[in-house]
Amino acid sequence: MVQLPNESIQKFKELMEEKSGKEVTWEEVAEGGRNLVNLFDVLYKCEMDHRSWDERLKKEPKGFALEGNGRNCAVCGMSTREDTNWYDKWGIKCLTCQRAIDKKLIPGSVARSDKNRYSPYDLEDRFGITKPAQRKWVKEGILKSRIVPNEKGGVHYHLFLIKDNKDFLPPKKLTESQLVAFEKDGKTWHRSEPWYRFVEDPYEHLKGYKIMNYLKFVQQEDTR
Ligand SMILES: [Zn+2]
Repeated sequence: MVQLPNESIQKFKELMEEKSGKEVTWEEVAEGGRNLVNLFDVLYKCEMDHRSWDERLKKEPKGFALEGNGRNCAVCGMSTREDTNWYDKWGIKCLTCQRAIDKKLIPGSVARSDKNRYSPYDLEDRFGITKPAQRKWVKEGILKSRIVPNEKGGVHYHLFLIKDNKDFLPPKKLTESQLVAFEKDGKTWHRSEPWYRFVEDPYEHLKGYKIMNYLKFVQQEDTR
C-alpha cells in the first residue's frame, strides 16, 4: 500500500475541503489520496505498456499476442488468455473478433472506439430493447446487425454499427447516462440515470431518428 507523506495529505485535505465546501477527516483524505495515487500508478503502467507495444508494432505491423491472461477484448468485452488475444493498431481483441476483422465482417475501428456502434447491452440499457426484441428487429429488417461468427459458425457477438443504421440509431453522445448525486445516511452517493431523464421530451431530443417510432416512453413514479 502507498504511504503518503503528511504534508501531501494536508494539502489534499485543504483542496478537498475547498472544492466540496465541507470538512473532511484525515482518514478520508488519506484514503482518497491513496486511491488516487494507486489510480495514477495503474494509468502510468498502462501508458508505458502501450508505448512499448506501439514501438513493437513498428517492426510487426500486423500485430502480435500480448503476454498474460485476463485482458479484455475491445469488441466483445470478453476476457482473453495469452494464447487468445491479438494486439494491433486498433487495440486488444480476442482471436474470434480478430478473425471477423480480418475477414472484413466488422471494421477494425470498432475496437478503437465504442462510439461508432451500439452493443446489444447498449440497446437494452439505453432504450430498453431486450435481446429477443433486437433479434426480432434484425429479422424484420428494421435493424441491421453485424455478426462476429464463432468457430462453429454460430454467433459469437452482435454489433449495431451507426453507419449501417443511419437515420435509425442516434449518435451515442445523445444517449449517454449521467451520474446523479444523492444524500443517504449523511453521505453523498452517486447513481447512474438514463439519458431520457435529463431531456424534456425524448422524441424531440432524438427527432429524426427512426428508432423513436418504435419506442414508447412511460412516465414512471420515482420509487427509490
Ligand atoms: Zn472479442
